[in-house]
Amino acid sequence: MKRRCAKIEYFWHIFFPNRCLFCEKPIAGDEVFCPHCEKEQPLLPAVCNRCLKPVGACTCTVPVFSVFRYEEGAETAVHAMKFTGDCVAAQKLAQLMAGRLFELFNFHFPFDRIVPVPMHKKDKKDRGFSQSEWLAKALSKQISVPCIADALKKVRRTKKQHTLSAQERMKNLTGAFAVKYPERIRGQRILLVDDVFTTGATAYETAGVLIRAGASSVTVIVAAKTTFTGNNGL
Ligand SMILES: [Zn+2]
Repeated sequence: MKRRCAKIEYFWHIFFPNRCLFCEKPIAGDEVFCPHCEKEQPLLPAVCNRCLKPVGACTCTVPVFSVFRYEEGAETAVHAMKFTGDCVAAQKLAQLMAGRLFELFNFHFPFDRIVPVPMHKKDKKDRGFSQSEWLAKALSKQISVPCIADALKKVRRTKKQHTLSAQERMKNLTGAFAVKYPERIRGQRILLVDDVFTTGATAYETAGVLIRAGASSVTVIVAAKTTFTGNNGL
């Protein structure tokens, strides 16, 4: 059995060599980036993306942390995960998100549970997976905090956020999410996981739902944050 697994792995690597997360060039071993992209990562500073203060000084009700600016390579990586179902990209992004959390919290994570931002079940069925769930589950393993993958549910389908203005985005999502198991959320410090943060409409709506269900705190972590140029009114 062992031998057969090794054989499969051997052929797997021939046909599917490891690729750079950003430029998708084949790379050696289990590296995340090629040497060029390793140097050119569009990293955001390790501060709350709302108040731009470090963890100790941030007093935001819902702090938001991210790893990358959503541009070039980071966009390629998120697209690979989201639109072509590249679960290796998801694993690598989760690994980088975990690294950001270690950097921010120095191993003392103020979280009891990890919760992904959910998709509507019809959308998840159409896509075949939920990228936020992939990230949340992989992150859970990386930082050893349990994940409740179905803690939140999307109770109605909504228009695509990217087609809307900032204010329309908030309105579009109002009442779209609910907590499935309030007893598992009450009193818990939640790390809410999503792939991309744009205006924050999705993150704040879901964070609000968790807080109203009794979560003692909600912190958001995303792989990448866009530079939203409109007035987001937040
Ligand atoms: Zn590269």
